[in-house]
This record gives sequence, structure tokens and C-alpha cells, in this order.
Amino acid sequence: MLRKVILAAAGSQRVERLVEGAPVSRNLVRRFVAGNSSDDALRCTRSLSDQGLAVTLDFLGEDTVSPEQAEATAGEYLRVLDALHAAELTPAAEVSLKLSALGQVFDDKQAYEHARAICAKASEAGTTVTLDMEDHTTTDSTLEILHRLRVDFPTVGVAIQAYLRRSEADCRELAVEGLRVRLCKGAYKEPESVAFQSRLDVDKSYVRCLNALMSGPGYPMVATHDPRLIAIAEDRARWFDRSADEFEFQMLFGVRPDEQLRLVDLGYTMRVYLPYGTQWYGYLMRRLGERPANLGFFLRALRSRD
Ligand SMILES: Cc1cc2nc3c(=O)[nH]c(=O)nc-3n(C[C@H](O)[C@H](O)[C@H](O)COP(=O)(O)OP(=O)(O)OC[C@H]3O[C@@H](n4cnc5c(N)ncnc54)[C@H](O)[C@@H]3O)c2cc1C
Repeated sequence: MLRKVILAAAGSQRVERLVEGAPVSRNLVRRFVAGNSSDDALRCTRSLSDQGLAVTLDFLGEDTVSPEQAEATAGEYLRVLDALHAAELTPAAEVSLKLSALGQVFDDKQAYEHARAICAKASEAGTTVTLDMEDHTTTDSTLEILHRLRVDFPTVGVAIQAYLRRSEADCRELAVEGLRVRLCKGAYKEPESVAFQSRLDVDKSYVRCLNALMSGPGYPMVATHDPRLIAIAEDRARWFDRSADEFEFQMLFGVRPDEQLRLVDLGYTMRVYLPYGTQWYGYLMRRLGERPANLGFFLRALRSRD
């Protein structure tokens, strides 16, 4: 219930103005976000990389409403890919893209063109791109763009949300040679008609999706902080005879950092999803929605003066 309220607030412009205008403690945002600029992102990528962690960098921004905004976001990705390459942080660092930030909502052709330019730059920089998955109205368009991009950039990957009823079937289709699929639970407020609502049903769907991915020839990316699902993923990897370089774990920056390092110590690839930029509101609200226990901390930060 609380999760639904927080996710509804994530879509409310009134709450957004209130939160962004409030003296939210910098520490709260910093806990989940590398910083405002690409320099912050690079510094943080370097520090994670020095600890043996791989990175996927996300330039924060969604709900893009104009071609100029989409262009600016694409330009930022091109610049940060050059910077990652120059700093020799590729291939350990790749980028994650939200197609909505590239204009998908009002012009999916334009979003495709921008994504294509970013994939070409990533390829020049010796790394790749993963498409984030957003609300369910964009799933078909995102998968269609993925398939078009993969013709020239076969390493491009995509996120799939276990809470969607369609995802088990999608995973079966996407479990093909070379395809990188990031399996996550899903972070948006979705209706019962398209998404499982209870934690148990979402977790059971996650395991079915995981089975489909782990049993196929693709490259599964297990994006969860859930200890039970991590143990099941390790079990499935053993069962399907996958070595540690034939799949990877992924977690969000700032969430369970000790567990991230524990998995690195075991020899797994652990990729940290690292957001940066000033448009942190929607991202932060989704993180709070996942862990309402943080809400008290958040409300105290909202009232604080620093
Ligand atoms: C790399 C990555 C990329 C993602 N990309 C997308 C995407 O493209 N689209 C999308 O919709 N969603 C995305 N997500 C978000 C995802 O869908 C979930 O909302 C988010 O990961 C929380 O789900 P969970 O699997 O960690 O399980 P939860 O059910 O939230 O948590 C399960 C358990 O994990 C542990 N845990 C979780 N959070 C914490 C914490 N803060 N501190 C300590 N323990 C914790 C607890 O034991 C908890 O009970 C992504 C997540 C990751 C990790």
C-alpha cells in the first residue's frame, strides 16, 4: 500500500516541486546518485572499478517532452562515453539508456536514431548499451527498438521486469545467443491487468524468467538485491553449467554494497547501476517505493535544513 502511494507521488508534479524545492539532505541523494556532473560520474566509476566492480552509467532524466531535451540527453551520453574511453574505464563501464529520455513518448523514430548514435559511440569506445525498461505502455516499442539496434550492435541488451505477466514469454523469446537480458522485478506502478501485485507472485515470476534465461544460450544479468533470488540464481547457474563469466549480477549504487563486494570475492561479475545528473526525483522516489522503511529517514531529511 505504502509502495503504491510513494510510486503515485513519483508521478506527481506537485510532490516533485515540493521535494525538489525542499532542503533535502544532500546525503540522501548522494546515497543513491553519483553526483550532478559527468566528472562526478567518472570519479565514482573509477572508485567502483578499483574495487573490482563493473558499472552501468545512467544519465538521469525521463519524461522528456521536447526534441531539444532528447537531443541534449543524447549529447550527454556521447560525451560521457568519450570520457569513459579516454579514462580507460571501458569496457568495465557501459551505459544504461531510458528511451523516454530520448523522446520515445512523442517520437519513437527520433528515440531510435539517438539510441543508434549512442550505440555507435559505445562501440567505438569499446563498450555497450543496455536499454532500461519503463512503464508497460513502452515495452513493445522498447523491444522493437532493441531488435533494430541489434542488427548493427549485437551486444546491446535490455531489461525485463518480472512483475509483468508477459515477461516469462518475453524471456523465452529473448534467450538467444549473445543477447544480454537484465532481469529485474520492476519499479513502476502497474495495473493488475498487466502485472502481478503480490511480492510472492512477482518472486515466483522472477524465478520462471530466470529459468528461461539461464537455460538458454543468452547472457543473463541478474539484477536484484534479494538474497533468496541471488541464491537461486547461483543454484541455476550450477544446474545449467554456466561458468562465472556466462552471466552476471547487478545491483543499484548505494544498495547492499557489502553484498556487492562479497559476490565479487566469489569471482562473479557484479555490475553497479550508477545514476548521475540533476534529474534525480523519479529515481529517488522509486528507490523509496522499494524500501518504505527508508521513508522516515526521507521525511526527516525533507524537514532538515542542510
Ligand atoms: C541494476 C539494476 C537495474 C534496474 N533496472 C530497472 C529497469 O530498467 N526497469 C525497472 O522497472 N526497474 C529496474 N530496476 C529496479 C528493480 O526493478 C527493482 O525495483 C529493485 O531492484 C528492487 O527490487 P529487488 O529485486 O532488489 O527486490 P526487493 O523486493 O525490493 O528487495 C528484496 C530484498 O532485497 C534486500 N534489499 C532490497 N533493498 C535493500 C536496501 N536498500 N538495503 C538492504 N537490503 C535491501 C532486502 O532483503 C529485501 O527484502 C533495476 C534494478 C537493478 C538492481
